[in-house]
Amino acid sequence: MKTVLAYSGGMDSTVLLYHLLHEGHEVVALSVDYGQKHKIELQRAKTIAQVLNIHHEVADLRAITALFGRSSLTNKHTSIPQGHYEKENMKSTVVPNRNMILLSLATAWASSIQASSVSYAAHAGDHAIYPDCREEFAEALDRAIRLADWQEIYLYRPFVCFTKADLVKRGNELKVPFHKTWSCYEGKEIHCGQCGTCIERREAFHLAGIKDATPYLETAPTVERMVANEWRL
Ligand SMILES: [Zn+2]
Repeated sequence: MKTVLAYSGGMDSTVLLYHLLHEGHEVVALSVDYGQKHKIELQRAKTIAQVLNIHHEVADLRAITALFGRSSLTNKHTSIPQGHYEKENMKSTVVPNRNMILLSLATAWASSIQASSVSYAAHAGDHAIYPDCREEFAEALDRAIRLADWQEIYLYRPFVCFTKADLVKRGNELKVPFHKTWSCYEGKEIHCGQCGTCIERREAFHLAGIKDATPYLETAPTVERMVANEWRL
């Protein structure tokens, strides 16, 4: 079965890539440059796809970055918030309607190569602050993309009941090279260890009981300190 993976180069979609290959799917991968500051994720996606010999495309949507307003992921005047995802200031990391845009492009590619599905790594730990990560949204989008072509394409999301820690465990089983994946929204050369997505990543490894081989900035608090502090900075 041919599928188009919405592929960010992060740990969730990389685990899904390995999972799809393990299930025997023929996979092509789509990343999108929407003007994100953490463009390094695109390079990580490219490197991992090359190692796996996967056809990987990067759609250049930098021309529409201004439509995303003051999202801290794209606007150079808005700084990336630090701390746990549950904090109110994390809402600045929302990129308006991002999943619809990414999955819509993936559907276009699926249609042009007669793929039967679009795959993405939605999981149960996706946050209430991201409205387009809700399962109701995915269900509605699934119904829509089934009508996008005469030949039905569906939205495949096998991790919808997984926590992020479950994803780490599944990735560990599949020998996913986690250290090559990218999460940090700061987008520097090394994970900062204290933005929302870095903390979520560190927490997931901790809860899974699996060693996190990701290098973090030396100035980031240790996991022990984060745990003692209930993941607050
Ligand atoms: Zn970070």
